[in-house]
Amino acid sequence: MKNIPEIIEYESLEKVNSIFINDYYQAFEQVLQSGWYILGKQVADFEQAFAQYCGTKHSIGVASGLDAIILSLKALDLPKNAEVIVPSNTYIASILGIINAGYKPVLVEPAINTYNIDPVKIEAAITSKTKAILPVHLYGKMCDMTNINLLAKKCELKVIEDCAQAHGAQHYKKKAGSWGDAGAFSFYPTKNLGALGDGGAITTNNDELADKLIYLRNYGSKKKYENKYVGFNSRLDELQAAFLIKKLTRLDNINNHKRSLAQIYFDKIDSRFIKPSRQTENYDVFHIFNIRCNKRDLLKKYLLEKGIKTEIHYPIPPHKQTGYKKLLGSKKFPLSEEIHATTLSLPISRFHTSEQVNYVANCINEFE
Ligand SMILES: *Cc1c(COP(=O)(O)O)cnc(C)c1O
Repeated sequence: MKNIPEIIEYESLEKVNSIFINDYYQAFEQVLQSGWYILGKQVADFEQAFAQYCGTKHSIGVASGLDAIILSLKALDLPKNAEVIVPSNTYIASILGIINAGYKPVLVEPAINTYNIDPVKIEAAITSKTKAILPVHLYGKMCDMTNINLLAKKCELKVIEDCAQAHGAQHYKKKAGSWGDAGAFSFYPTKNLGALGDGGAITTNNDELADKLIYLRNYGSKKKYENKYVGFNSRLDELQAAFLIKKLTRLDNINNHKRSLAQIYFDKIDSRFIKPSRQTENYDVFHIFNIRCNKRDLLKKYLLEKGIKTEIHYPIPPHKQTGYKKLLGSKKFPLSEEIHATTLSLPISRFHTSEQVNYVANCINEFE
């Protein structure tokens, strides 16, 4: 297995996007020549295509995944001081979105097998101030939306799905973004559906919510110089939308490729490493493929010596981040800490080959 000379990158956006080069040049030319660069035909066309892809009535383009969370929460008009339940092991943006919308994040631990928020623990965290749940479909696996939605209905809570890592993921054949009151997507370049810059979208089946979001993202205005709401400047860029239209046609292909690489990891990697769980009801899209190992840092170093680059999602849990310690209180989150201390993300990008992934798996198995 020593005959793989080149470095195996964790990710290379240049390589991921190389198959779209001609499409992108064409998209750029179309936008340039249209003379219309903000909220034009490309954004409208992408919104329609993305809503259709997700199986929702609407999708509204915004400037980023973080803004998708903030605007969804703002549009739902929760009462002041509302508490929003969010997983303790998520990427910081899920929590920051709640804070920037003016609400209080309440952290709840994940289930250790799925790494996704645990509905039983959600129920235990609900107070009279709880108004919404923000489940995060981490690593490309959907949360237990069946039970989360049952709980939300019973307790009259809103549900905003953080779909930033789950474009095309499914739970009982229904896509991420179509389960909650709203779904917040990011098109940050590394995501499964990544643009060539920042971008985001909100999916919803609620006509009223969609209408309000169209105002909120554009200064609270739908008609020039008339401001119905106090809004934001958070528009999906016309050029990014044009690129995304092209890439969306290949999203299933990207996800299938990642799934086939994941299958190699599942088949090959020793059971002494903890691999992701799989459920028959979930269709996972492996934004990230992680394994867990007590000697994680040594394993990472060993793999690098073998020419394999890996990442950690994430090295420090939110409640231990300097900027958030005060805000998040002094509660303990042992499962999150366990995950953060032991998780390692393996190469699983659109450009990786099965040979490369076999090599990675073999090297892992040879780790002492
Ligand atoms: C990437 C990400 C976001 C934020 O997306 P941006 O477009 O970078 O603002 C939010 N939540 C999760 C889980 C993410 O992975």
